[in-house]
Amino acid sequence: MKTIVWFRQDLRLHNHPALKEASECGDVLPVFILPDHSSPTAADWWLSQSLLGLQQQLAELGNSLLVVKGSPADVLCKIAQETNADALFFNGQIDPVSRRAETSLLENLNCTSLDIRRFPPDMLLDPDTLKTGAGQPYKVFGAFWKSLQQQTIPWPIAAPTSLSCWIAEYSEMIPLEKSGLRSSLGWDKTIEETWTPGETESFERWAHFRDQILNKYVMLRDYPGIDGTSKLSGFLASGNMSIRGLWHAVYRAQQEGDAAQPEPFLRQLAWREFSYYQLFHFPDIVNQPLRKEFLNFPWSDDSESLTAWKEGKTGYPLVDAGMRELWQTGTMHNRVRMVAASFLVKHLLIDWRIGAQWFQETLVDYDIANNTLGWQWVAGSGFDAAPYFRIFNPTTQSKKFDEHGVYIRKWLPELAALPDKHLYEPQAAPKEVLEEADIVLGVTYPFPIVDHATARKRALDAYALIKGEKEGSS
Ligand SMILES: Cc1cc2nc3c(=O)[nH]c(=O)nc-3n(C[C@H](O)[C@H](O)[C@H](O)COP(=O)(O)OP(=O)(O)OC[C@H]3O[C@@H](n4cnc5c(N)ncnc54)[C@H](O)[C@@H]3O)c2cc1C
Repeated sequence: MKTIVWFRQDLRLHNHPALKEASECGDVLPVFILPDHSSPTAADWWLSQSLLGLQQQLAELGNSLLVVKGSPADVLCKIAQETNADALFFNGQIDPVSRRAETSLLENLNCTSLDIRRFPPDMLLDPDTLKTGAGQPYKVFGAFWKSLQQQTIPWPIAAPTSLSCWIAEYSEMIPLEKSGLRSSLGWDKTIEETWTPGETESFERWAHFRDQILNKYVMLRDYPGIDGTSKLSGFLASGNMSIRGLWHAVYRAQQEGDAAQPEPFLRQLAWREFSYYQLFHFPDIVNQPLRKEFLNFPWSDDSESLTAWKEGKTGYPLVDAGMRELWQTGTMHNRVRMVAASFLVKHLLIDWRIGAQWFQETLVDYDIANNTLGWQWVAGSGFDAAPYFRIFNPTTQSKKFDEHGVYIRKWLPELAALPDKHLYEPQAAPKEVLEEADIVLGVTYPFPIVDHATARKRALDAYALIKGEKEGSS
Protein backbone atom coordinates (compact mmCIF):
# COMPACT_ATOMS: atom_id res chain seq x y z
CA MET A 1 0.00 0.00 0.00
CA LYS A 2 1.19 3.57 -0.75
CA THR A 3 0.30 5.85 2.16
CA ILE A 4 0.54 9.60 2.59
CA VAL A 5 1.33 10.47 6.22
CA TRP A 6 0.19 13.98 7.07
CA PHE A 7 2.57 15.39 9.70
CA ARG A 8 1.08 18.07 11.94
CA GLN A 9 1.87 19.03 15.53
CA ASP A 10 3.72 15.70 15.77
CA LEU A 11 7.13 16.42 14.24
CA ARG A 12 8.87 13.26 15.41
CA LEU A 13 9.30 9.59 14.58
CA HIS A 14 8.67 8.01 17.99
CA ASN A 15 5.12 7.49 19.28
CA HIS A 16 3.67 8.51 15.94
CA PRO A 17 0.82 6.02 15.42
CA ALA A 18 -0.01 7.16 11.87
CA LEU A 19 3.60 6.86 10.71
CA LYS A 20 4.15 3.51 12.40
CA GLU A 21 1.02 2.00 10.90
CA ALA A 22 1.84 3.37 7.43
CA SER A 23 5.39 2.01 7.62
CA GLU A 24 4.00 -1.44 8.38
CA CYS A 25 1.51 -1.28 5.50
CA GLY A 26 4.02 -0.48 2.73
CA ASP A 27 5.47 2.70 1.21
CA VAL A 28 5.22 6.07 2.91
CA LEU A 29 5.05 9.66 1.63
CA PRO A 30 5.49 12.12 4.55
CA VAL A 31 3.77 15.47 3.92
CA PHE A 32 3.70 18.71 5.90
CA ILE A 33 1.30 21.58 5.10
CA LEU A 34 2.69 25.00 6.02
CA PRO A 35 0.56 27.29 8.21
CA ASP A 36 -1.11 30.14 6.44
CA HIS A 37 0.06 33.26 8.35
CA SER A 38 1.02 36.61 6.99
CA SER A 39 3.77 37.23 9.56
CA PRO A 40 5.85 34.49 11.19
CA THR A 41 5.65 33.94 14.95
CA ALA A 42 8.31 32.65 17.34
CA ALA A 43 6.66 29.22 17.23
CA ASP A 44 6.98 29.32 13.42
CA TRP A 45 10.73 29.69 13.88
CA TRP A 46 10.62 26.55 16.06
CA LEU A 47 8.55 24.83 13.40
CA SER A 48 11.05 25.73 10.65
CA GLN A 49 13.90 24.17 12.64
CA SER A 50 11.85 21.10 13.55
CA LEU A 51 11.03 20.52 9.90
CA LEU A 52 14.73 20.63 9.03
CA GLY A 53 15.42 18.08 11.77
CA LEU A 54 12.57 15.85 10.64
CA GLN A 55 13.75 16.05 7.04
CA GLN A 56 17.19 14.85 8.14
CA GLN A 57 15.74 11.98 10.22
CA LEU A 58 13.60 10.88 7.28
CA ALA A 59 16.60 11.06 4.93
CA GLU A 60 18.49 8.72 7.29
CA LEU A 61 15.63 6.23 6.82
CA GLY A 62 15.80 6.62 3.03
CA ASN A 63 12.74 8.88 2.77
CA SER A 64 12.02 12.61 2.54
CA LEU A 65 9.47 15.24 3.53
CA LEU A 66 7.14 16.86 1.02
CA VAL A 67 6.38 20.44 2.16
CA VAL A 68 3.36 22.15 0.62
CA LYS A 69 0.93 25.02 1.17
CA GLY A 70 -2.86 25.32 0.99
CA SER A 71 -6.02 23.99 2.59
CA PRO A 72 -5.49 20.41 3.83
CA ALA A 73 -8.51 18.99 1.99
CA ASP A 74 -7.47 20.48 -1.39
CA VAL A 75 -3.75 19.86 -1.08
CA LEU A 76 -3.96 16.29 0.20
CA CYS A 77 -6.52 15.38 -2.46
CA LYS A 78 -4.24 16.79 -5.17
CA ILE A 79 -1.19 14.99 -3.83
CA ALA A 80 -3.10 11.71 -3.60
CA GLN A 81 -4.19 12.02 -7.24
CA GLU A 82 -0.78 13.09 -8.61
CA THR A 83 1.15 10.44 -6.71
CA ASN A 84 -1.38 7.57 -7.04
CA ALA A 85 -1.52 7.12 -3.27
CA ASP A 86 -3.83 4.45 -1.80
CA ALA A 87 -4.18 5.81 1.72
CA LEU A 88 -3.89 8.87 3.94
CA PHE A 89 -3.03 8.51 7.64
CA PHE A 90 -2.73 11.25 10.24
CA ASN A 91 -2.81 11.76 14.00
CA GLY A 92 -5.78 13.77 15.27
CA GLN A 93 -5.54 17.12 17.04
CA ILE A 94 -7.98 18.45 19.59
CA ASP A 95 -8.04 22.22 19.00
CA PRO A 96 -11.11 23.61 17.21
CA VAL A 97 -9.33 24.79 14.04
CA SER A 98 -7.57 21.45 13.52
CA ARG A 99 -10.76 19.55 14.24
CA ARG A 100 -12.61 21.60 11.62
CA ALA A 101 -9.81 20.87 9.13
CA GLU A 102 -10.14 17.15 9.89
CA THR A 103 -13.91 17.20 9.41
CA SER A 104 -13.58 19.07 6.12
CA LEU A 105 -10.90 16.63 4.99
CA LEU A 106 -13.00 13.58 5.84
CA GLU A 107 -16.07 15.05 4.10
CA ASN A 108 -14.21 16.17 0.99
CA LEU A 109 -12.04 13.13 0.50
CA ASN A 110 -14.76 10.61 1.28
CA CYS A 111 -15.69 10.65 -2.40
CA THR A 112 -12.28 9.25 -3.41
CA SER A 113 -11.24 5.65 -2.95
CA LEU A 114 -8.47 6.75 -0.57
CA ASP A 115 -8.28 4.74 2.67
CA ILE A 116 -8.31 7.57 5.25
CA ARG A 117 -7.42 6.84 8.88
CA ARG A 118 -7.29 9.22 11.84
CA PHE A 119 -5.13 8.06 14.75
CA PRO A 120 -5.39 9.31 18.37
CA PRO A 121 -4.04 12.74 19.33
CA ASP A 122 -0.97 13.14 21.54
CA MET A 123 -2.62 12.91 24.93
CA LEU A 124 -2.05 10.59 27.86
CA LEU A 125 -5.60 9.30 27.45
CA ASP A 126 -8.44 9.69 24.99
CA PRO A 127 -10.23 12.86 26.25
CA ASP A 128 -13.51 10.94 26.55
CA THR A 129 -12.02 8.44 29.03
CA LEU A 130 -12.21 10.49 32.21
CA LYS A 131 -15.63 11.67 33.39
CA THR A 132 -17.19 12.56 36.73
CA GLY A 133 -19.63 10.21 38.44
CA ALA A 134 -22.42 12.14 36.65
CA GLY A 135 -20.78 11.42 33.28
CA GLN A 136 -19.65 15.04 32.81
CA PRO A 137 -16.15 16.32 31.96
CA TYR A 138 -14.10 17.30 35.00
CA LYS A 139 -13.89 21.02 35.67
CA VAL A 140 -11.61 20.90 38.69
CA PHE A 141 -7.97 19.88 38.34
CA GLY A 142 -7.69 18.09 41.73
CA ALA A 143 -10.43 15.60 40.89
CA PHE A 144 -9.12 15.16 37.34
CA TRP A 145 -5.59 14.45 38.63
CA LYS A 146 -6.89 11.92 41.15
CA SER A 147 -8.81 10.12 38.46
CA LEU A 148 -5.87 10.23 36.02
CA GLN A 149 -3.57 8.65 38.59
CA GLN A 150 -5.84 5.60 38.72
CA GLN A 151 -5.51 4.98 34.99
CA THR A 152 -2.92 3.00 33.06
CA ILE A 153 -1.32 5.23 30.46
CA PRO A 154 -0.73 3.25 27.24
CA TRP A 155 2.88 2.66 26.24
CA PRO A 156 4.35 4.90 23.56
CA ILE A 157 4.94 3.32 20.15
CA ALA A 158 8.52 2.82 18.97
CA ALA A 159 9.81 4.77 15.97
CA PRO A 160 9.86 2.87 12.65
CA THR A 161 13.27 1.44 11.82
CA SER A 162 12.80 1.78 8.06
CA LEU A 163 10.51 3.86 5.86
CA SER A 164 10.28 2.72 2.28
CA CYS A 165 9.04 5.27 -0.25
CA TRP A 166 7.73 5.26 -3.78
CA ILE A 167 8.73 7.56 -6.62
CA ALA A 168 6.30 10.37 -5.97
CA GLU A 169 6.61 13.56 -7.97
CA TYR A 170 4.51 16.51 -6.88
CA SER A 171 4.41 19.73 -8.86
CA GLU A 172 3.82 22.20 -5.99
CA MET A 173 6.51 21.20 -3.53
CA ILE A 174 7.99 24.10 -1.52
CA PRO A 175 11.68 24.00 -0.53
CA LEU A 176 12.00 24.55 3.23
CA GLU A 177 14.17 27.64 2.80
CA LYS A 178 11.20 29.25 1.01
CA SER A 179 8.67 28.24 3.67
CA GLY A 180 8.16 31.82 4.90
CA LEU A 181 8.44 30.59 8.50
CA ARG A 182 11.52 32.68 9.23
CA SER A 183 11.26 36.40 9.81
CA SER A 184 12.98 38.46 7.15
CA LEU A 185 13.64 41.09 9.87
CA GLY A 186 15.92 38.69 11.75
CA TRP A 187 14.20 39.30 15.12
CA ASP A 188 14.45 35.55 15.78
CA LYS A 189 18.28 35.67 15.93
CA THR A 190 18.42 35.76 19.75
CA ILE A 191 15.84 32.99 19.96
CA GLU A 192 18.10 30.91 17.76
CA GLU A 193 20.95 31.37 20.22
CA THR A 194 18.78 29.88 22.99
CA TRP A 195 17.14 26.84 21.43
CA THR A 196 17.87 23.85 19.20
CA PRO A 197 14.48 22.38 18.27
CA GLY A 198 13.92 18.81 17.08
CA GLU A 199 13.31 15.29 18.35
CA THR A 200 17.00 14.47 18.90
CA GLU A 201 17.54 17.57 21.04
CA SER A 202 14.36 16.80 23.02
CA PHE A 203 15.89 13.50 24.18
CA GLU A 204 19.10 15.28 25.21
CA ARG A 205 17.19 17.91 27.14
CA TRP A 206 15.14 15.26 28.89
CA ALA A 207 18.35 13.38 29.85
CA HIS A 208 19.82 16.59 31.31
CA PHE A 209 16.64 17.25 33.28
CA ARG A 210 16.44 13.64 34.52
CA ASP A 211 20.08 13.58 35.66
CA GLN A 212 20.44 17.10 37.07
CA ILE A 213 17.06 18.50 38.09
CA LEU A 214 14.18 16.00 38.39
CA ASN A 215 14.93 15.03 42.00
CA LYS A 216 15.04 18.69 43.06
CA TYR A 217 12.23 19.87 40.78
CA VAL A 218 9.72 20.44 43.57
CA MET A 219 12.15 22.74 45.39
CA LEU A 220 13.48 24.59 42.34
CA ARG A 221 10.57 24.93 39.94
CA ASP A 222 9.31 28.29 41.21
CA TYR A 223 12.60 30.18 41.04
CA PRO A 224 13.18 31.84 37.67
CA GLY A 225 16.87 32.58 38.31
CA ILE A 226 17.64 28.84 38.66
CA ASP A 227 17.82 26.08 36.03
CA GLY A 228 15.04 24.24 37.85
CA THR A 229 12.51 23.10 35.25
CA SER A 230 12.63 20.79 32.23
CA LYS A 231 12.39 23.45 29.47
CA LEU A 232 10.61 20.79 27.43
CA SER A 233 7.52 22.87 26.59
CA GLY A 234 8.69 23.85 23.08
CA PHE A 235 9.40 20.20 22.28
CA LEU A 236 6.00 19.13 23.58
CA ALA A 237 4.11 21.95 21.87
CA SER A 238 5.59 21.17 18.45
CA GLY A 239 5.33 17.44 18.99
CA ASN A 240 9.12 16.92 18.83
CA MET A 241 8.45 14.94 22.00
CA SER A 242 5.30 12.96 22.78
CA ILE A 243 3.60 13.30 26.13
CA ARG A 244 3.18 9.54 26.52
CA GLY A 245 6.85 9.01 25.76
CA LEU A 246 7.79 11.56 28.42
CA TRP A 247 5.36 10.17 30.98
CA HIS A 248 6.80 6.67 30.63
CA ALA A 249 10.37 8.00 30.60
CA VAL A 250 9.67 9.50 34.05
CA TYR A 251 8.41 6.15 35.34
CA ARG A 252 11.44 4.40 33.86
CA ALA A 253 13.71 6.89 35.62
CA GLN A 254 11.94 6.08 38.88
CA GLN A 255 12.33 2.32 38.37
CA GLU A 256 16.01 2.74 37.54
CA GLY A 257 16.58 4.81 40.69
CA ASP A 258 17.05 8.17 38.89
CA ALA A 259 13.86 9.75 40.22
CA ALA A 260 12.91 9.39 43.86
CA GLN A 261 10.12 11.98 43.69
CA PRO A 262 8.59 12.06 40.21
CA GLU A 263 5.09 13.08 41.28
CA PRO A 264 5.44 16.89 41.24
CA PHE A 265 6.72 16.74 37.66
CA LEU A 266 4.03 14.27 36.57
CA ARG A 267 1.49 16.64 38.10
CA GLN A 268 2.66 19.43 35.76
CA LEU A 269 2.34 17.05 32.80
CA ALA A 270 -1.18 16.40 34.07
CA TRP A 271 -1.87 20.16 33.91
CA ARG A 272 -1.00 19.97 30.23
CA GLU A 273 -3.38 17.02 29.87
CA PHE A 274 -6.09 18.96 31.74
CA SER A 275 -5.67 21.94 29.37
CA TYR A 276 -6.02 19.68 26.34
CA TYR A 277 -8.98 17.91 27.94
CA GLN A 278 -10.76 21.21 28.67
CA LEU A 279 -10.10 22.56 25.17
CA PHE A 280 -11.50 19.33 23.73
CA HIS A 281 -14.69 19.47 25.82
CA PHE A 282 -15.13 23.28 25.79
CA PRO A 283 -13.73 24.46 22.43
CA ASP A 284 -15.17 27.98 22.86
CA ILE A 285 -12.69 28.74 25.62
CA VAL A 286 -10.13 30.09 23.15
CA ASN A 287 -12.25 33.24 22.84
CA GLN A 288 -14.83 32.99 25.59
CA PRO A 289 -14.41 33.06 29.37
CA LEU A 290 -15.43 29.77 30.96
CA ARG A 291 -17.18 31.72 33.73
CA LYS A 292 -19.89 33.62 31.96
CA GLU A 293 -19.94 36.59 34.40
CA PHE A 294 -16.61 37.62 32.83
CA LEU A 295 -18.44 38.36 29.56
CA ASN A 296 -19.38 41.70 31.15
CA PHE A 297 -15.97 42.58 32.57
CA PRO A 298 -15.16 46.29 32.02
CA TRP A 299 -11.83 45.83 30.20
CA SER A 300 -9.69 48.86 29.48
CA ASP A 301 -8.31 49.79 26.04
CA ASP A 302 -5.22 51.60 27.34
CA SER A 303 -2.87 51.04 24.40
CA GLU A 304 0.02 52.97 25.97
CA SER A 305 0.11 50.65 28.97
CA LEU A 306 -0.22 47.63 26.69
CA THR A 307 2.86 48.75 24.75
CA ALA A 308 4.79 49.30 28.00
CA TRP A 309 3.87 45.76 29.08
CA LYS A 310 4.90 44.22 25.75
CA GLU A 311 8.21 46.08 25.77
CA GLY A 312 9.01 45.31 29.43
CA LYS A 313 8.79 48.95 30.51
CA THR A 314 6.16 48.88 33.25
CA GLY A 315 8.52 49.96 36.04
CA TYR A 316 7.90 46.64 37.88
CA PRO A 317 11.22 44.78 37.54
CA LEU A 318 9.91 41.19 37.69
CA VAL A 319 7.25 41.88 35.06
CA ASP A 320 9.74 43.72 32.85
CA ALA A 321 12.40 41.00 33.21
CA GLY A 322 9.82 38.40 32.14
CA MET A 323 8.66 40.38 29.12
CA ARG A 324 12.26 40.97 28.01
CA GLU A 325 13.09 37.27 28.48
CA LEU A 326 10.06 36.47 26.34
CA TRP A 327 11.13 38.81 23.53
CA GLN A 328 14.72 37.65 23.49
CA THR A 329 14.31 33.90 23.99
CA GLY A 330 10.70 33.10 23.08
CA THR A 331 9.99 31.76 26.54
CA MET A 332 9.27 32.88 30.09
CA HIS A 333 9.48 31.05 33.40
CA ASN A 334 6.10 29.79 34.63
CA ARG A 335 6.14 31.84 37.86
CA VAL A 336 6.90 34.99 35.88
CA ARG A 337 4.26 34.14 33.24
CA MET A 338 1.71 34.13 36.06
CA VAL A 339 2.90 37.45 37.49
CA ALA A 340 3.26 39.21 34.11
CA ALA A 341 -0.11 37.93 32.88
CA SER A 342 -1.78 38.91 36.14
CA PHE A 343 -0.25 42.38 35.89
CA LEU A 344 -1.82 42.86 32.44
CA VAL A 345 -5.23 41.59 33.45
CA LYS A 346 -5.51 42.99 36.97
CA HIS A 347 -3.15 45.98 37.29
CA LEU A 348 -3.87 47.27 33.78
CA LEU A 349 -7.38 45.77 33.37
CA ILE A 350 -6.49 44.68 29.82
CA ASP A 351 -8.45 41.76 28.37
CA TRP A 352 -6.67 38.40 28.81
CA ARG A 353 -7.30 37.60 25.14
CA ILE A 354 -5.00 40.48 24.13
CA GLY A 355 -2.27 39.05 26.36
CA ALA A 356 -2.88 35.56 25.01
CA GLN A 357 -2.50 36.92 21.47
CA TRP A 358 0.88 38.50 22.36
CA PHE A 359 2.04 35.19 23.84
CA GLN A 360 0.87 33.44 20.66
CA GLU A 361 3.13 35.71 18.62
CA THR A 362 6.18 35.57 20.88
CA LEU A 363 6.33 32.16 22.63
CA VAL A 364 8.34 29.39 20.99
CA ASP A 365 6.31 26.93 23.09
CA TYR A 366 2.98 28.49 22.12
CA ASP A 367 0.33 25.88 22.68
CA ILE A 368 -3.29 26.86 22.17
CA ALA A 369 -4.54 24.66 25.04
CA ASN A 370 -1.91 25.57 27.65
CA ASN A 371 -1.90 29.23 26.70
CA THR A 372 -5.67 29.62 26.79
CA LEU A 373 -6.03 27.80 30.09
CA GLY A 374 -3.03 29.67 31.54
CA TRP A 375 -4.62 33.01 30.75
CA GLN A 376 -8.08 31.98 31.91
CA TRP A 377 -6.53 30.71 35.14
CA VAL A 378 -4.76 34.02 35.75
CA ALA A 379 -7.80 36.10 34.79
CA GLY A 380 -9.99 34.09 37.17
CA SER A 381 -12.39 33.25 34.34
CA GLY A 382 -11.51 29.54 34.09
CA PHE A 383 -13.46 26.84 35.96
CA ASP A 384 -10.59 25.99 38.29
CA ALA A 385 -8.82 29.34 38.21
CA ALA A 386 -7.05 31.63 40.66
CA PRO A 387 -9.84 33.67 42.29
CA TYR A 388 -9.98 37.11 40.71
CA PHE A 389 -9.60 38.87 44.04
CA ARG A 390 -6.22 37.21 44.62
CA ILE A 391 -3.99 39.80 43.02
CA PHE A 392 -0.27 39.05 42.70
CA ASN A 393 1.94 41.79 44.09
CA PRO A 394 4.87 41.84 41.60
CA THR A 395 7.20 43.34 44.20
CA THR A 396 6.61 40.72 46.90
CA GLN A 397 6.66 37.98 44.27
CA SER A 398 10.11 39.11 43.12
CA LYS A 399 11.46 39.31 46.69
CA LYS A 400 10.18 35.81 47.37
CA PHE A 401 11.11 34.04 44.13
CA ASP A 402 14.15 36.05 42.97
CA GLU A 403 15.61 36.75 46.37
CA HIS A 404 19.08 37.70 45.15
CA GLY A 405 17.90 39.34 41.95
CA VAL A 406 19.68 36.86 39.65
CA TYR A 407 16.79 36.79 37.19
CA ILE A 408 16.04 40.52 37.26
CA ARG A 409 19.70 41.46 36.79
CA LYS A 410 20.03 39.05 33.86
CA TRP A 411 17.15 40.55 31.88
CA LEU A 412 17.34 44.16 33.12
CA PRO A 413 21.06 44.96 32.95
CA GLU A 414 20.23 48.65 33.47
CA LEU A 415 19.29 47.79 37.08
CA ALA A 416 22.18 45.37 37.69
CA ALA A 417 24.20 47.75 39.86
CA LEU A 418 21.38 48.36 42.35
CA PRO A 419 21.82 46.67 45.72
CA ASP A 420 19.32 43.82 46.38
CA LYS A 421 17.45 45.99 48.87
CA HIS A 422 16.37 48.45 46.15
CA LEU A 423 16.30 46.19 43.11
CA TYR A 424 12.60 45.33 43.43
CA GLU A 425 11.41 48.93 43.80
CA PRO A 426 13.89 51.26 42.11
CA GLN A 427 11.47 54.19 42.49
CA ALA A 428 11.82 53.90 46.28
CA ALA A 429 15.64 53.95 46.27
CA PRO A 430 17.39 57.05 47.67
CA LYS A 431 18.73 59.51 45.11
CA GLU A 432 22.39 58.75 45.88
CA VAL A 433 21.84 54.98 45.49
CA LEU A 434 20.31 55.55 42.05
CA GLU A 435 23.17 57.86 41.08
CA GLU A 436 25.72 55.32 42.25
CA ALA A 437 23.99 52.64 40.10
CA ASP A 438 23.88 55.01 37.11
CA ILE A 439 20.08 54.97 36.99
CA VAL A 440 17.98 57.94 35.96
CA LEU A 441 14.36 57.06 36.60
CA GLY A 442 12.13 57.96 33.70
CA VAL A 443 15.17 57.80 31.40
CA THR A 444 17.20 54.62 31.89
CA TYR A 445 14.37 52.76 33.67
CA PRO A 446 10.68 53.79 33.87
CA PHE A 447 8.71 54.88 36.91
CA PRO A 448 5.92 52.36 37.65
CA ILE A 449 3.12 52.93 35.13
CA VAL A 450 0.52 52.22 37.85
CA ASP A 451 0.65 52.31 41.62
CA HIS A 452 0.11 48.81 43.04
CA ALA A 453 -2.38 49.77 45.78
CA THR A 454 -4.45 51.95 43.43
CA ALA A 455 -4.44 49.32 40.68
CA ARG A 456 -5.44 46.64 43.14
CA LYS A 457 -8.42 48.62 44.36
CA ARG A 458 -9.46 49.42 40.79
CA ALA A 459 -9.31 45.72 39.89
CA LEU A 460 -11.38 44.72 42.90
CA ASP A 461 -13.97 47.39 42.08
CA ALA A 462 -14.19 46.14 38.49
CA TYR A 463 -14.63 42.59 39.75
CA ALA A 464 -17.33 43.69 42.22
CA LEU A 465 -19.21 45.19 39.27
CA ILE A 466 -19.50 41.84 37.46
CA LYS A 467 -20.21 39.97 40.69
CA GLY A 468 -22.70 42.61 41.77
CA GLU A 469 -21.06 42.66 45.19
CA LYS A 470 -17.73 43.33 46.90
CA GLU A 471 -15.51 40.28 47.61
CA GLY A 472 -12.82 39.90 50.25
CA SER A 473 -9.19 40.19 49.19
CA SER A 474 -5.81 38.67 49.95
C1 LIG B 1 -0.42 32.96 31.11
C2 LIG B 1 0.22 31.63 30.83
C3 LIG B 1 0.43 31.22 29.52
C4 LIG B 1 1.04 29.99 29.24
N1 LIG B 1 1.23 29.62 27.93
C5 LIG B 1 1.77 28.41 27.65
C6 LIG B 1 1.96 27.99 26.30
O1 LIG B 1 1.60 28.68 25.33
N2 LIG B 1 2.56 26.78 26.08
C7 LIG B 1 2.94 25.96 27.12
O2 LIG B 1 3.45 24.87 26.87
N3 LIG B 1 2.73 26.32 28.40
C8 LIG B 1 2.18 27.52 28.70
N4 LIG B 1 2.00 27.89 30.01
C9 LIG B 1 2.31 26.90 31.09
C10 LIG B 1 3.74 26.95 31.65
O3 LIG B 1 4.11 28.27 31.96
C11 LIG B 1 4.79 26.35 30.70
O4 LIG B 1 4.36 25.10 30.25
C12 LIG B 1 6.13 26.16 31.42
O5 LIG B 1 6.61 27.40 31.89
C13 LIG B 1 7.13 25.56 30.44
O6 LIG B 1 8.39 25.41 31.03
P1 LIG B 1 8.99 23.97 31.30
O7 LIG B 1 8.88 23.12 30.08
O8 LIG B 1 10.36 24.17 31.86
O9 LIG B 1 8.00 23.43 32.40
P2 LIG B 1 8.13 22.29 33.49
O10 LIG B 1 7.87 22.90 34.81
O11 LIG B 1 9.36 21.52 33.33
O12 LIG B 1 6.86 21.37 33.19
C14 LIG B 1 6.92 20.27 32.26
C15 LIG B 1 5.81 20.38 31.25
O13 LIG B 1 4.53 20.33 31.90
C16 LIG B 1 3.62 21.18 31.21
N5 LIG B 1 3.20 22.25 32.11
C17 LIG B 1 3.89 22.79 33.13
N6 LIG B 1 3.16 23.74 33.75
C18 LIG B 1 1.99 23.81 33.10
C19 LIG B 1 0.82 24.58 33.25
N7 LIG B 1 0.67 25.50 34.23
N8 LIG B 1 -0.20 24.40 32.39
C20 LIG B 1 -0.12 23.47 31.40
N9 LIG B 1 0.98 22.68 31.21
C21 LIG B 1 2.00 22.85 32.04
C22 LIG B 1 4.36 21.78 30.01
O14 LIG B 1 4.13 20.97 28.88
C23 LIG B 1 5.82 21.68 30.48
O15 LIG B 1 6.73 21.64 29.41
C24 LIG B 1 1.41 29.14 30.32
C25 LIG B 1 1.21 29.56 31.64
C26 LIG B 1 0.63 30.79 31.89
C27 LIG B 1 0.43 31.21 33.32
